[in-house]
Amino acid sequence: MAKKLAKKAVPKVAPKPKAKAENARKTSRKASEPRAPKPGSRYVYLFGRKTDGNGSMKPLLGGKGANLAEMCRIGLPVPPGFTISTEVCTYYYANKRTYPQALRGQMEAGIASIEQQTGKTFGDLKNPLLVSVRSGARDSMPGMMDTILNLGLNDQTVEALSAKTGNPRFAWDCYRRFVQMYGDVVLGVQKRPDEDHEPFEMVIEKLKHDRHHQDVEDTKLSVDDLKELVVRFKALIKERAGKQFPSSPWDQLMGAVGAVFGSWMNDRAIVYRRKYNIPTEWGTAVNVQAMVYGNTGDESGSGVAFTRNPANGVKEFYGEFLINAQGEDVVAGVRTPEPVAELKKQMPKAYAELERIRQTLEKHFKDVQDFEFTIEDGVVYMLQTRNGKRTAMAALKFSMDMYKEKLIDWKTAVMRNPADQLEQLLAPVFDAAEVNKAKVIATGLPAGPGAASGQIYLNADRAVVAADKGEKVLLVRVETSPEDLRGMIAAEGILTARGGVSSHAALVARQMGKVCVCGAAAVEVDYNARTVRADGRTFKEGDWMSIDGTAGKVYAGQVKTAPSEIVAGLINGDEAAKKTEKFKHFQQLMKWCSDASRMSVRTNADTPEQTENAVAFGAVGIGLTRTEHMFFEGDRIDAMREMILAETEQARKAALAKLLPYQREDFAGIFRALKGYPATIRFLDPPLHEFLPHTEEQQKELARKIGVPAARIHTRVSQLHEFNPMLGFRGCRLGIGYPEISAMQARAVFEAAAQVQKEGIKVRPEIMIPLVGFKKELDLQIEVVHQAARDVQAEQKVKLNYMVGTMIEIPRGALTADEIAESAEFFSFGTNDLTQTGLGMSRDDSGSFLPQYQELEIVKKNPFATIDATGVGQLVDIAVKKGRAARPNLKLGICGEHGGDPASIHFFEKVGLDYVSCSPYRVPVARLAAAQAALQTKGGD
Ligand code: PEP
Ligand code: MG
Repeated sequence: MAKKLAKKAVPKVAPKPKAKAENARKTSRKASEPRAPKPGSRYVYLFGRKTDGNGSMKPLLGGKGANLAEMCRIGLPVPPGFTISTEVCTYYYANKRTYPQALRGQMEAGIASIEQQTGKTFGDLKNPLLVSVRSGARDSMPGMMDTILNLGLNDQTVEALSAKTGNPRFAWDCYRRFVQMYGDVVLGVQKRPDEDHEPFEMVIEKLKHDRHHQDVEDTKLSVDDLKELVVRFKALIKERAGKQFPSSPWDQLMGAVGAVFGSWMNDRAIVYRRKYNIPTEWGTAVNVQAMVYGNTGDESGSGVAFTRNPANGVKEFYGEFLINAQGEDVVAGVRTPEPVAELKKQMPKAYAELERIRQTLEKHFKDVQDFEFTIEDGVVYMLQTRNGKRTAMAALKFSMDMYKEKLIDWKTAVMRNPADQLEQLLAPVFDAAEVNKAKVIATGLPAGPGAASGQIYLNADRAVVAADKGEKVLLVRVETSPEDLRGMIAAEGILTARGGVSSHAALVARQMGKVCVCGAAAVEVDYNARTVRADGRTFKEGDWMSIDGTAGKVYAGQVKTAPSEIVAGLINGDEAAKKTEKFKHFQQLMKWCSDASRMSVRTNADTPEQTENAVAFGAVGIGLTRTEHMFFEGDRIDAMREMILAETEQARKAALAKLLPYQREDFAGIFRALKGYPATIRFLDPPLHEFLPHTEEQQKELARKIGVPAARIHTRVSQLHEFNPMLGFRGCRLGIGYPEISAMQARAVFEAAAQVQKEGIKVRPEIMIPLVGFKKELDLQIEVVHQAARDVQAEQKVKLNYMVGTMIEIPRGALTADEIAESAEFFSFGTNDLTQTGLGMSRDDSGSFLPQYQELEIVKKNPFATIDATGVGQLVDIAVKKGRAARPNLKLGICGEHGGDPASIHFFEKVGLDYVSCSPYRVPVARLAAAQAALQTKGGD
């Protein structure tokens, strides 16, 4: 009987939708923002036999709704339904959680359309229609929002379903699932902070023990057991929520829709949005769809699959399914599912259909798809498809393979690699020798590649507390669930005893780039005792374990890590590493990045070693050498302190003379490492007191070393004390107060340049004066630099090519950039200080209030990590325009921390900078982001 009904549910694609669909796609592709709701406008979009939407309407229909429509259009078997648009979510929050008046009528029409296509009726006592209600934001947020299945059941319709299908077990299984989900999601009957298990699961467990005296599988529960469960669930709801479970299908539906919209603002959705920078304004859509059943018997099942392996990128049909189960069983990790390849043996026809769907999806979407399916009595239905979340490793392989298969072009291949994930490829793996010695205590599924060692914690909150204390944490759970999000963010890696690689939380782990092993059945987690048993050993919270998320292995204790193939190949010159596919793919990607980019990428480096690393990663120069870092090594600090404490110019010059050879050698090393690339060298910047001995002990020691009374040092330190050193005697103010410091630094640069140039290496010094707000400040310093250049060139009989420029890092400098550009040959934006001074927010002290600012969304992102484009960005933009107006060939770069941040790099591309500069290990990320920014800008996005 169910089979017959299901057949009716197969949507027939409208006979001639193609031309119309193409048009719809073209026109709506431009609609990238949700439109403001207008009275009387459309809120409900059908899919099925008649399909209103299409795949490009994600802003309006959410990712799930748009792709359900698209799948209908390409003839895939989708149960009919409708999508309530994101505009309704916007309306809901703007109007005290109410709906537009027209919504109910449109929903009624939507239900009528499903009824017509399925031949079932909502609330009917003979042939009841059941629906699922699911969220669907523009970008998928796996597991973060709510879903309700089997809606429409009550004490009467369950009997009708039972009679109609001749399958009471199935009907009652649907009902108990529905009451459970509805109670949890809509009526809020959930785990309390002091509980480790879901209350409904505890009721199930109790019933199993009461009636079977053991932990039997869910599929072994009898009809009577299920009936009893429904009674106990309803009692639990009454007790905890103080409400009766609603029996009217329309009340159920409106409650479910409200819960899905409400879940947009739940804690875990907010945390997720913050992490992935999804704007709150986007809202979610709600999809209401005819149910198909994976739990009608052994010819049915539910599964989740990827068109290729999302962990390592291999082109294989990858996924898992559960026989006789509904979709949430697969993702909830309650039963460990079987690999999809097993279906080939168990249901060959359904498997062949899924293979066909897999090919169709990739051909149509031209990207790896992550899809959910249900098999009802042997017939396959598609419930969802979306671009699959992937690890950086998989993204790289997908992009290269799909380029080779001619599915995508090279520019698309570049865009397919998420820049903020690229660092995962550089992440360490276990040291081969160490891991051979380590004891494997369990194996599981490799869900997130990489190597992680940490102290184990069994609960997300305790993991967060430990990580805050600076511990390396491994989160160990029986099964991961979306509530664990904060703990997952805090942990180095995640280990679960149950659940498959497509459990929602495992997807999230992969996307975060967390190392993850799941379904390690040999790991016994005891939440009460806070212990983990494996391989006959007991581990307490705080003990060390290690996991290999590439191989799926779990080790006792701490295992040392080793560099990834890419780092081994590029930095250590390891020949075997260079032969790996990963290394070759990475190099190909980086080459394409160079071809696509307009901006170049430099590095912030203070030593020859850092410079060499950055050049190996593809940096084409230094954007910032902070010369002050060089003063802290070895004995240098003593000479530096002597210089600062000097009370006469003569004494100061004598101390500077001691520093000169150190600086010269440092610069020479850097010039050699650069092999002809330019080096921006910044003169002394921090407040002098940072170099001074502050404790009495240190002062006495220095007094002894440089032969002056300790009291004098004490007095001088007090004299140099500043109330607000960041705004005090620092930057070019030092060089103006003590020109001999700048003179020494300039001489060191030019002497080193002359020396290296004579060795036959091209040298391109760019001297940079910090913290300039007035043109006159820069002019005074430039004169000192030119004088040193003249002297050294005459002494050494060489001709040196050099430039002098400035940092733009205080608002006055940005606002008077036209005047400053008359003297400066280049600008480099010091966005750390520009953010600090532009926002009037201390870069060192903002940690105490910024988290709250982010929570309240006063700032969307940390402005010291991602440029505040609307505020500080304007200062950059003004300086670029004014600077270029005064000097058209002015070279423009950025050397603040934002230079390695993908979102900021997009902004710098837009305002037209020539390069970004970042720390050596961020160079590949910056190269990828710069390429993507250029491709997007050229593409007119
Ligand atoms: C800056 O201010 O952005 C900068 C790069 O300089 P520092 O961080 O050394 O102040
Ligand atoms: Mg600065």
